Amino acid sequence: MEIFNGLIGNEDIKNALGNAITNSEFLHAYIIEGAYGTGKHTVARLASMGIMCKGKPLCNSDKRCNICQKILNDNCTDVRFFDAFKVDDVRKIKEELYESPTECDYKIYILNNAEKMNVKAQNALLISLEEPPPNVVFFLLCTDATVLLETIRSRAQILRTKPLTNEQIRAYLKSKDISGIDTSSLDEIIISSNGSLGYVLDMLNSSKADSLIKDREKALELAISLLKNDNSTITSLYSMFNMTRDKLKELFGLALIAYRDMAVVKKTKNVSLCFFTSVKEASSIASKYSVSKILYYYSMVEKGIEALNSNSNVPNTLISLITNSKKKGK
Ligand SMILES: [Zn+2]
Repeated sequence: MEIFNGLIGNEDIKNALGNAITNSEFLHAYIIEGAYGTGKHTVARLASMGIMCKGKPLCNSDKRCNICQKILNDNCTDVRFFDAFKVDDVRKIKEELYESPTECDYKIYILNNAEKMNVKAQNALLISLEEPPPNVVFFLLCTDATVLLETIRSRAQILRTKPLTNEQIRAYLKSKDISGIDTSSLDEIIISSNGSLGYVLDMLNSSKADSLIKDREKALELAISLLKNDNSTITSLYSMFNMTRDKLKELFGLALIAYRDMAVVKKTKNVSLCFFTSVKEASSIASKYSVSKILYYYSMVEKGIEALNSNSNVPNTLISLITNSKKKGK
């Protein structure tokens, strides 16, 4: 049985956890830490199947045993899923912790968004982690394990899911025959995903892709119009006066990534970009401006984000950006 057959990348986890499960040497608690969409759920689910499977060694992705199929469908009674765990949930777990599993040899608790547990909930959980019955396994999923209490972290093994490369994401989508979307939008989505397959799939399954592409166009327009520093700059910034603070922050954030790409392609063409989908496009825009100019506006936009974070309103932030651009022009 290939436990982590369905997991892309993340070889470290495949080896460490895969071997532990195969040799029945797994621990009673794991913290799976990683950015959104990097496969934390997939790891927990596949590990649960590896632990609980009743069809070893024949059970596989072509033919699953009854238990693995149930876990895949999220309806195995012995694999319990909790989101943003609260003290009441801990109480519930404690009450049933010593009851035998109903259909498997183990009971598995998957606690999603573990970092959202408050200290009280974490302390309550700690007691269960300290002396769990031998047939209980916890998977705590979180984006940042450092916010968990040291006492929790020290009682679990921390595994980190890693962002995928753009090529790994493309290969996955190809293997799933995901089509019906034009390739240039797909490239933009993959580039803006920072290696999060979950983000890409979310985007493809929703109408968010269109707005992402519009936002990127708008951010690029902003980045370029600042560099041009002419009348178009003012027109472009005025058109943003009615935006919400969050929206403007998002556009500023994207503009920073665009500037970063522009500055980098001026140094080297052998680079993986974060905003532009091709080095050619990034270079052709960047070639019109000096690195120092690009970096100047990078810091201007960065200051804009800081201002918005400290509650400056949208028009004031934009006006100070216009004023600073004018100074630079002189
Ligand atoms: Zn199975």
